[in-house]
Amino acid sequence: PSMLGILGGGQLGRMFAVAAKTMGYRVTVLDPDSNAPAAQFADVHLCAPFNDAAALKTLAQTCAAVTTEFENVNADAMRELARTTRVSPSGDCVAIAQDRIAEKAWINKAGLPTAPYLAIESVEDIQVDLTPYLPGILKTARLGYDGKGQVRVSTPDEARAAYANLGGQACVLEKMLDLKLEVSAIVTRVSAAQMAVFPVAENSHKNGILDVSIVPARIAPALAASAQQMAQSLAEALDYVGVLAVEFFVLADDSLVVNEIAPRPHNSGHYTLTACLTDQFQQQVRAMCGLLPGRTDLLSPVVMVNLLGDVWKEDGREPNWDVLAEAPNAQLHLYGKKQARPGRKMGHFNVMAATADEALEQAEALKDTL
Ligand code: ATP
Ligand code: MG
Ligand code: MG
Repeated sequence: PSMLGILGGGQLGRMFAVAAKTMGYRVTVLDPDSNAPAAQFADVHLCAPFNDAAALKTLAQTCAAVTTEFENVNADAMRELARTTRVSPSGDCVAIAQDRIAEKAWINKAGLPTAPYLAIESVEDIQVDLTPYLPGILKTARLGYDGKGQVRVSTPDEARAAYANLGGQACVLEKMLDLKLEVSAIVTRVSAAQMAVFPVAENSHKNGILDVSIVPARIAPALAASAQQMAQSLAEALDYVGVLAVEFFVLADDSLVVNEIAPRPHNSGHYTLTACLTDQFQQQVRAMCGLLPGRTDLLSPVVMVNLLGDVWKEDGREPNWDVLAEAPNAQLHLYGKKQARPGRKMGHFNVMAATADEALEQAEALKDTL
């Protein structure tokens, strides 16, 4: 069977490896961590830095196709791999998603709205009238996730001080919008003719980290269809190959604004593991191999609850999983991480029920008893 390669061995790499192995492929994971969650499921674990020339050469020479699971992978390494083997998404698309300035410019170029923002590449860029972006959020252009690298600011002085505090690195100052809801749409694109989009998830965050996804999102069907359409047009504009997640804000007037994209399966798509005809990791395998995307039909309303290290006991003991085992409509997924830390994504569980509201009620009750 063909070997598939993945840059990154976190939980997304782990779920990718499970899908790929189930579908009959072999898997090589590149990750410097000997305890990487994906390593247990890999045929080959290249335990080396992401820029290790020998490891990249091995990937290029032994893999029929290579993908990535983490956003901060070196885009140049992906471009280099693409000279020898099939790489998706492309290094170019990954580079866009890694830089909020390029990302927002591309979203606007595709004809889609973002929050009003100011790109700040150097200190001169912030010496303008900032009032259109205030109150706002200053976000580092690179390397931010789970709300890290973000500062809320209300006045021009605060914004300039926060920029200086971030060491003068490239940032965007984004106007704080009044959000009614947040939703995401995940699209799988192999070519213009071969695209499939998952049902829209409604996402709620706690402390900047995804907490719960509710599917179908409790929004008008036309609005959900419009989010799916926008995700597809963005994938098209980027000539994207692979799984692309698009996060949206829903504003008070029911308009949609694109927040950001992720060039990979997404935490808000973990519900697909239980509740869709094809899951997002199977789609990643299909897209990287140039196969048709699978059908994305939702089999049941579903709620996904993230399990952060915070639910582990003080002494490091695991939560009481029995309550989940005893719920026949719940599925637990653990990522095999040894150390639980506050804010660290350790696993998730999906709850299926007749309606999204019912699934949410049960999911919350289950979480409370852990
Ligand atoms: P992720 O882990 O999803 O990559 P991130 O660190 O890249 O997160 P964002 O998605 O930019 O961060 O923002 C995190 C959260 O902060 C959003 O989901 C939203 O709840 C809130 N937020 C971000 N930007 C805005 C905004 N312009 N107006 C209102 N709320 C915002
Ligand atoms: Mg992000
Ligand atoms: Mg986000």
